[in-house]
Amino acid sequence: MICEIKKQSGAAFLLKKGEKLKVIDPQGEQVSDMVLFNAHDTREKISSGKTLDFQESLLITKGDYLWSNRSNKMMKILEDTNGRNDFLLAPCSPETFQIMYDNPNYHPSCFENLYVNLEEFKIEKDDIPTAFNIFMNVQWNSKGELSVEAPLSKAGDYIVFEVLTDLIVALTACSAEDSNNGSFKPIHYEILS
Ligand SMILES: [Zn+2]
Repeated sequence: MICEIKKQSGAAFLLKKGEKLKVIDPQGEQVSDMVLFNAHDTREKISSGKTLDFQESLLITKGDYLWSNRSNKMMKILEDTNGRNDFLLAPCSPETFQIMYDNPNYHPSCFENLYVNLEEFKIEKDDIPTAFNIFMNVQWNSKGELSVEAPLSKAGDYIVFEVLTDLIVALTACSAEDSNNGSFKPIHYEILS
């Protein structure tokens, strides 16, 4: 069954070891932020630093593992039809729009959509780690300067993760203009046994 995350929203759910999670960009050029927590001890969570270190790459894709802050494997990427994901930048938050977009008004954000959906699992705002940003196209030059570019994902691109331990997962349909080429679209996901 394919579930839809409506534009600028999020979802959180449980996954069992051995299941697979497929995340789909149905229209193209839409980022989805994903965070993971050990379902039996939420102090263990996905770690950008451990993953980039152990995979020895800034670009995480098919064949790579997503590692926890306790150096355990949480997921393996089995398929990745787009192949460009980001694991450097934190989820967009209310402050992102104040600081980067000079917008003092309320703006939906991945950070809010993550913590609001994770409240039922007793996970709090300050527990949210750097997300694995599926389909996000962050580029850098030889000086190390970063830029957020339009996603390279086309309609129907997807990524499949194998679940290696029982997890609480939260996913968003990202709300940041620059990350999604200026328009907000839904994200689809499917849990496969
Ligand atoms: Zn976002």
